[in-house]
Amino acid sequence: MPDAAVAARSSETTDSGTTQQVDVAVVGAGFAGLYLLHRLRKAGFSAVVIEKAGDVGGTWYWNRYPGARCDIQTMDYSYTFDPELDREWTWSEKYATQPEILRYFAFVADRYDLRRDIRFGTGVKAANWDDASDRWLLTTDNGANISCRYYIMATGCLSTPKPPEIDGVKDFKGAIYFTGRWPHEGVDFTGKRVAVIGTGSSGIQSIPLIAEQAAHLTVFQRTASFALPAQNGPSPDDRKTYFEADRAAYREQARWSMAGVPYPQETAVSWQLSDAERRERFEKAWAAGDLVHILTQLWADQGVDVDGNALIGKLIHEKIRAVVKDPETAAALSPNDHPFGSKRPCLDTNYYTTYNRPNVTLVNLRQEPIKSITATGIVTDKRSVDVDAIVFATGFDAMTGAIMAVHPITGRDGKSLSSVWANGPQSYLGLTVAGFPNLFMITGPGSPSVLSNMAVSIEQHVEWVVDRLAALRDAGYTTMEATETAQAGWARHMADCSTVTLHRLANTWYTGANVPGKVQGLMPYTGGVGPYRSICNEIVSRGMLGFKMTGPNVAEQCNDGEVVRLQPDVRLVLGMLAEMNLPPFESLGAQGARDFLTEFNKGRPVGRPVGEVGTGMLQGAAGPLPYRLYRPATPGPHPIVVYFHGGGWVLGDEQSDDPFCRDICRRSGMIVVSVGYRHAPEHRFPAAAEDGYAATGWIAEHAAELGGTGEPVVVAGWSAGGNIAAVTCQLARDRGGPEIAGQLLICPVTDCTFDRPSYVDNANGYFVTRGLMYWFWDIYCSPADRTDPRASPLRGNLANLPPAFVATCEFDPLRDEGIAYAEGLAAAGVPVEQLQARGHFHSSLMMVDVVITGVGGRVKMAEALRAFAGLPPKLEERGAETPIKIDAAAG
Ligand code: NAP
Repeated sequence: MPDAAVAARSSETTDSGTTQQVDVAVVGAGFAGLYLLHRLRKAGFSAVVIEKAGDVGGTWYWNRYPGARCDIQTMDYSYTFDPELDREWTWSEKYATQPEILRYFAFVADRYDLRRDIRFGTGVKAANWDDASDRWLLTTDNGANISCRYYIMATGCLSTPKPPEIDGVKDFKGAIYFTGRWPHEGVDFTGKRVAVIGTGSSGIQSIPLIAEQAAHLTVFQRTASFALPAQNGPSPDDRKTYFEADRAAYREQARWSMAGVPYPQETAVSWQLSDAERRERFEKAWAAGDLVHILTQLWADQGVDVDGNALIGKLIHEKIRAVVKDPETAAALSPNDHPFGSKRPCLDTNYYTTYNRPNVTLVNLRQEPIKSITATGIVTDKRSVDVDAIVFATGFDAMTGAIMAVHPITGRDGKSLSSVWANGPQSYLGLTVAGFPNLFMITGPGSPSVLSNMAVSIEQHVEWVVDRLAALRDAGYTTMEATETAQAGWARHMADCSTVTLHRLANTWYTGANVPGKVQGLMPYTGGVGPYRSICNEIVSRGMLGFKMTGPNVAEQCNDGEVVRLQPDVRLVLGMLAEMNLPPFESLGAQGARDFLTEFNKGRPVGRPVGEVGTGMLQGAAGPLPYRLYRPATPGPHPIVVYFHGGGWVLGDEQSDDPFCRDICRRSGMIVVSVGYRHAPEHRFPAAAEDGYAATGWIAEHAAELGGTGEPVVVAGWSAGGNIAAVTCQLARDRGGPEIAGQLLICPVTDCTFDRPSYVDNANGYFVTRGLMYWFWDIYCSPADRTDPRASPLRGNLANLPPAFVATCEFDPLRDEGIAYAEGLAAAGVPVEQLQARGHFHSSLMMVDVVITGVGGRVKMAEALRAFAGLPPKLEERGAETPIKIDAAAG
């Protein structure tokens, strides 16, 4: 429907008795509610918006404290659905003030004539689903109740202030203010002694301005936040030029980006950069004054690896020390209990310099917690501070607060949302909840929401929901509801995503840790805006996967299932590989495929440094073979792992699994010798197998020269290399040595048949295909030789072999033969540990520093290698998978 027609058309609401009948009721007239109303009208729905406040603006209506501004550049924090609107409004600053943002919302409300369908000053007291009519009944605290087919919570993520859980607040005789509920008439602190409790974004924005007015300001800080100077002013030229060059492309890029702001994916890892290069990048980010820039553009590992992240913390500490004159205050302001970015960093204007003012005191609550608030001020363990006013900048009951706590919501069979969420919010996509038909949340828990540019996420949600409602209506359905399977799958996917990031290492409002008694768990979706959008689209293209739809005159539809079964980073990698449209390896010929692989490998992150990397020649079955040796940084001698690379007996060489060899050397503290065995078609079966065996013998014999501890050695291999490692163990047993202490087999080829279910289920789409495996086998081995245990070790005698660790991946054609080998070994009495990596494909455990969800598996592999070698378990130094100690929030 054209905009003009929408504006002219009144909503199709009727008043039947005391109940207003509408298609859709929306709670909240903020960013989301306003767009919803416009979009719903356009789609021909009657709608009403219920809003507690006296005007539009949502959280921006209430958050009027001094210094309140956006922390995403306002050029990006804007509606994009209407290019004309986009052109008509120009922000005056890089980060607009709260009054300007409110003016923007008023402008939007006027432009689309939205206010006539908004019931201001009205709250919902209860919402009940009625099965008989397939409608929601809303009881309001002002005017008619509402009956609606669809109920949409556009309540925002940060709209319910957290109560101050400090004893004695009621006794205080002075003035009390909440940053999240600031008086509309403003507050004059001139000549006043003021306390601010809380140093999150709201505290950090307001403290410098309050300090300029107050006679004295005392800041009570529990956790120091990372703050970055906003460098406010006009929109920066580089971003503006980029935007103006092609606005539509810019907006589209934002929609598919990770955070909802168009920045490229950084690929350089921290250890690839020199100190000077890292500093240069950091200084650029500091000067840019842009959270998304500093959170994404320094180095690729900054958000996923504790060590890569700690480098940033140190650089920011330097900045704080350079500004804050008193060393004790500087130290207290320097965050040291959470990784940078795991808690929302803040944008400030003159925050740190404020502590150089004579009228400002910082009280470090970690050293002297607040005991109580009294009639005259605040008492800590060490002092009593008399004040005239207290500002609580203590934050929000985030994400769930406004949905759950504000009014009871009762779904199917009388179930309340608060009981369903008693152990934390459950949702499908952060949009819907099983058991609550036709209830939608805009940017609810389980969606990217607060970890993204909210503007982009809100628009995506609104469009997805309204488009679904229109499709339902057109198909004759009256209800839409997430299934339990889909919801449980989403919870699993959320958990998988959260293991990739460092958010789990901080106590924050992202996890509910800021509200005493709230169930803790990471609430926003950490998989990124673009991936999330593609998942939502996939659900539609797969016939509304995970939703049940019913209607009076149509057959029920339920296409049940989980939308994402791959690990999140595996999904991205496979998506990127698919987009590259690579030719099948088998179409390139052996040499072409080798050249291609060499080129392809150049694009991956270089592995991390180890003590030393050396090369040499060893004696294979028929002549010298190259090897590459990775030595740990610790003093030797070290036990030796003989490693065989993957590549289907055709591709790869002693260098081709370099990042993995480095990783396993670092994690296990053992020497890794990667063997350049001979390849087919030049050297067909049994050349590779015999080389594996001969090389292992040579390495065991020359262990001392290589810096090793001598026999026994351990063998390891991936894919065809796993095949060679397994075969080597059988040959060593049968031919009288060398002694092998253990075998690590990663996605090994163990049998020559192609009929196990994993060959059928994962035949295509997961990089290693059935066709490729046919090709490898054909090149390596004649059909007559394939049942030889040196080609198919599963067909050999599995008794009396060294203990094994067998890793298999769910989406790998080779999965079932790996599992069969592990089971065969176990049945033959060999100690076996199995790792069945959920959501991984054949190569993903090897993709060091790309597939972060593979880290846990590689830690287990390294521990298995150490156990084989008789070494004690190693406590990993701070790695991505090692939780650092977190202090519980304490007042
Ligand atoms: P917040 O980040 O949750 O910060 C609350 C502060 O109060 C924290 O320092 C917290 O300490 C402290 N606190 C809470 N309860 C306390 C207690 N009982 N005793 C002592 N200290 C206590 O809340 P916020 O500053 O309002 O910001 C919330 C979010 O809103 C931001 O992260 C941001 O996403 C958004 N926001 C954005 C802007 C912007 O720049 N556009 C401005 C404001 C807010 P602990 O950390 O130890 O719990």
